[in-house]
Amino acid sequence: MKKAAVAAVAVLAAVLAALLAYDGIINKEATADFFAMNTYASAKITGADSEECAALAEEITQSLDTDILSRTAENSEVFLLNKNGGGALGKEMRGYVSVLLDVCEKSGGAFDFTLGAVSDLWNFGGNPSIPDSAALSDALSHSGYKKLALAENTLTYADKAAVIDFGAAGKGIALDDIREAFAEKRIKEAVVSVGGSVLLMGEKQFTVGIRNPSGNAGSYIAKLHIPAGCVSTSGSYEQQFEENGEKYHHILDPETGCPAKSGLLSVTIISESGIMSDALSTACFVLGHEKGTALAKEYGCTAIFITENNEVFVENGSKDIIEITDGAYTLI
Ligand code: AMP
Ligand code: MG
Repeated sequence: MKKAAVAAVAVLAAVLAALLAYDGIINKEATADFFAMNTYASAKITGADSEECAALAEEITQSLDTDILSRTAENSEVFLLNKNGGGALGKEMRGYVSVLLDVCEKSGGAFDFTLGAVSDLWNFGGNPSIPDSAALSDALSHSGYKKLALAENTLTYADKAAVIDFGAAGKGIALDDIREAFAEKRIKEAVVSVGGSVLLMGEKQFTVGIRNPSGNAGSYIAKLHIPAGCVSTSGSYEQQFEENGEKYHHILDPETGCPAKSGLLSVTIISESGIMSDALSTACFVLGHEKGTALAKEYGCTAIFITENNEVFVENGSKDIIEITDGAYTLI
């Protein structure tokens, strides 16, 4: 071979090696599995900063819970607000409270993040049982978002026994914080799930499973084909117990303080924002199919309802995004 040809082959080989190394960096994958906010969470990241981001996803979720949103971690922002019956809010907390008050208002009170004392009585996170009815009415009498007043940066509880609870929106808030932190990192794709809420980042079309409401954690009844964004599912299957032949679940009707009976098994909401997808999935579960559709429309979100008759409805969005994979369920 002539010298020039040898040199050209060497250059090509070097370029190829560099390209392969670059590809190895941008397609570097990292995963994390952890338990936070009383639920299982996982992250799968692709990109040069994937390892750092997988660790970051866990760190952000844990510290958001312990330092800000937990109702039980002493000295978290929410713990202190509940203890003191209100107080000055940090910038982030002010934002969360104002979004959630809006959802309370627009859902006609079906969403209510002041049910902490009622949820405590049911104790779904621990050893659940049907509460004593006098205790339930008492806890309910101290609940209700209208007891909260937000002015400037101060939240005031008209009833000091009210207990705010971010159980319905915290997972989504974690996703919003994670997306913000990842924006500055070198990543190509990220899928982070905290309980039933999932963050999708990247240019591609993602496939997300909708859980089988009556099956085990690993079984799905449909696939969603959607671009980047947030997807949250609220379902009666998530935390439930059975007593005297009846099933009780953790999504409460604020009117009764008892598990909401709206004819649904689950609601999935797709939104740009995690706090919205998470809060709305809970709100729409309580509201039921018809009123839930109106609420999802008001916020411009696509909603997927699964009814107790195993019917699947896609509202405010195209049916093309869903592929039913379980013959027991019918897309209407
Ligand atoms: P999710 O799993 O996101 O639907 O949220 C359920 C959690 O939200 C429960 O475990 C309670 O902590 C809280 N919660 C229950 N009922 C309601 C409600 N009607 N409005 C707001 N939060 C609720
Ligand atoms: Mg929710």
